[in-house]
Amino acid sequence: MSYTIEGRTGVWEVVIGLEVHCQVISKAKLFSGAATTFGAEPNTQVSFVDAAFPGMLPVPNRECIAQAVRTGLGLRAQINLVSRFDRKNYFYPDLPFGYQITQFEKPLVGKGTITLELEDGTTREIGVTRLHLEQDAGKSLHDQNPTKTYVDLNRAGVGLMEIVSEPDMRSPEEAGAYLRKLRSIVRTLGTCDGNMEEGSMRADVNVSVRHPGEDYRTRCEIKNVNSIRFVMQAVEVEAARQVQVWEDGEEVVQETRLFDSAHGETRPMRSKEDAHDYRYFPDPDLLPLELDPAWVAGLKAALPELPDDRRARFMEDYGLSPYDASVLVAERASADYFEAVAKGRDAKQAANWVTGELFALLNRAGRTIEDPPVPAAALGRILDLIADGTINGKIAKTLFEAVAETGESPDALVEKRGLRQVTDTGAIDAVIARILGANADKVAQYKSGKDKLFGFFVGQVMREMKGKANPALVNEALKRALG
Ligand code: ADP
Ligand code: MG
Repeated sequence: MSYTIEGRTGVWEVVIGLEVHCQVISKAKLFSGAATTFGAEPNTQVSFVDAAFPGMLPVPNRECIAQAVRTGLGLRAQINLVSRFDRKNYFYPDLPFGYQITQFEKPLVGKGTITLELEDGTTREIGVTRLHLEQDAGKSLHDQNPTKTYVDLNRAGVGLMEIVSEPDMRSPEEAGAYLRKLRSIVRTLGTCDGNMEEGSMRADVNVSVRHPGEDYRTRCEIKNVNSIRFVMQAVEVEAARQVQVWEDGEEVVQETRLFDSAHGETRPMRSKEDAHDYRYFPDPDLLPLELDPAWVAGLKAALPELPDDRRARFMEDYGLSPYDASVLVAERASADYFEAVAKGRDAKQAANWVTGELFALLNRAGRTIEDPPVPAAALGRILDLIADGTINGKIAKTLFEAVAETGESPDALVEKRGLRQVTDTGAIDAVIARILGANADKVAQYKSGKDKLFGFFVGQVMREMKGKANPALVNEALKRALG
């Protein structure tokens, strides 16, 4: 899948690197015991450490470290047994310390990879440069008072994992696929909820353009984009803007920009401060972080099955196509749903129902697979009713809709609505006799060679029998009657 921009001076390609902030799932903050629950009353989850009271000392939260290590393992990345916390100094009203504790020179996690499955069935490996742990800042609230800005420190000190990619992506689709894959990995691991609307996953999008084969050109960084769709749009408009700048004979300047989704454009925010402006230095309140290899091995042994492994297993064990397998493992909940339906049943049929009927229903109803209108057990039961001949495939779809509407069980609905398949050949023969009698002209045409009319007769018989006849029996009986 190649994405290019045709300019006056030739073809351009886009180069993308993502810096993604993932809020660590943990009960307490990175260096204090304060709670991290989303949506609490302002300033009710703030310890003396988070508020930077004089003399307070940070103490690393083992669970946050474990979560970051799990994430690193999930990215098939190098875990650095020795890492270090540094101070990144800057002033901001919602940063009471005047610095952020982060990892600069020695991050906890080094190089890894994320594999993308693209729509055309190919895969791409995107390099992960590093993952480091850092504190989140508080929040400035500008909308509470006409003349004042308030500060809420609930978020101050919450653990973040910053996951930085190599500039390996080449299209908005790849950027979108990267974020979906990363989200699926952290959700599977239970290390971040991946919820971009609530800000627990935020992306800084680095974009440059170049003629294919050239060295990288200057990039711009679009800050804090909060949905996958916006990331893709931001890449597209920013790349187009940069092509324009270069082709006008000007230079793209390295700067931080923001994406205005309402106007579909990026705008300058500030020119990029050089790293040394932050005066990084090792935090003297914290010892270097040394991990026991046995502890890391224990975390590795306890990891859940990762999306890539699950995809491979779905292809191997259930015979699914690479595409179906990718679609199903994209969200842990859909993979779980599928497995609940497929267990002990025809897996290919289960996959078709989940990716077809179920996904369409979720779309129409605006529901999520975590809260499906037809539970996995009910869909499984519908497939059993097809398999044992109680209903036919066509009625199964009607039954599926009925379960979604009423919430009743498939078995109850089959009885109540009389959906049982008709296998009584006498009844089928009687309907066939009526249909053929009423269409003598078509019967004559069929007999003189117009084979296509067979489908017409099948349709008429099925309609007359309200879709409930056994299609195989109808076919046989019709052949006999016309033969
Ligand atoms: P900094 O430390 O100044 O933020 P990095 O070298 O760490 O810079 O890169 C930050 C992000 O920018 C990374 O995700 C990287 O992949 C991306 N990046 C670097 N160079 C380019 C480029 N020329 N075009 C697009 N993205 C780039
Ligand atoms: Mg950066």
